[in-house]
Amino acid sequence: MIIAIDGPAGTGKGTISKLIAKRLGFLYIDTGAMYRAVAVKLLRNKIGIEDKLEIKKILEKTSIELKTDDTETEYIQKVYLDGEDVTSIIRMPEVNECVSQYSSEKIIRERLVELQRKMAVGKNVIMEGRDITTVVFPNADVKIYLTASPEERAKRRWLELKAKGIETSYEETLESINKRDYNDMHKEMGALKIADDATVVDTTFLSIEEVYEKVKDIIQKR
Ligand code: C5P
Repeated sequence: MIIAIDGPAGTGKGTISKLIAKRLGFLYIDTGAMYRAVAVKLLRNKIGIEDKLEIKKILEKTSIELKTDDTETEYIQKVYLDGEDVTSIIRMPEVNECVSQYSSEKIIRERLVELQRKMAVGKNVIMEGRDITTVVFPNADVKIYLTASPEERAKRRWLELKAKGIETSYEETLESINKRDYNDMHKEMGALKIADDATVVDTTFLSIEEVYEKVKDIIQKR
């Protein structure tokens, strides 16, 4: 069974997907983490978005793995770039700033979409991102689009960054979220949009448990 979730940053896709994975026994795949890992590699190698040949070359020598640690109390997903644990690095503001631009590159999208489909073969999977319901798995068993107001999403992201000791203001976070939304919705390939047959859940005024219950109901009805 494939559960596909899309939506903009800060709607709770990751949190809800991990809860579903833990409680209902699915494998969770965070596709945003994969685009982030590629962005880290390109940033480190100082390769710009216009340098398509170098991007192609470097992708051929890049390995991205998601490793799951399903402990008694929580579901942890670690991200490895060429064997190095980059789970924290991929969440840095510098990566937030460039990931949307890099992920609009066709070569990167083709490579990661192929990898995402492979990762799901023969498994019960909950996969979240921007194009899962539309491109990666247009025939997914369950399709959900999570949304929330930009202000609420910025507040959640800012609190998350603060808790990690990353200094940034709420206004900067809101601006960065608005910019990323715009880029993500206007990509030529893999743009964020609501699939015709997706169920939309607005999480602005809902707690995590309330969103979980709604999503669980949608899954169980299928
Ligand atoms: O989900 P997250 O915010 O970590 O994703 C980071 C970025 O990766 C998004 O802003 C988007 O540009 C890109 N992305 C994408 N397609 C996906 C998942 C993420 O283009 N399926």
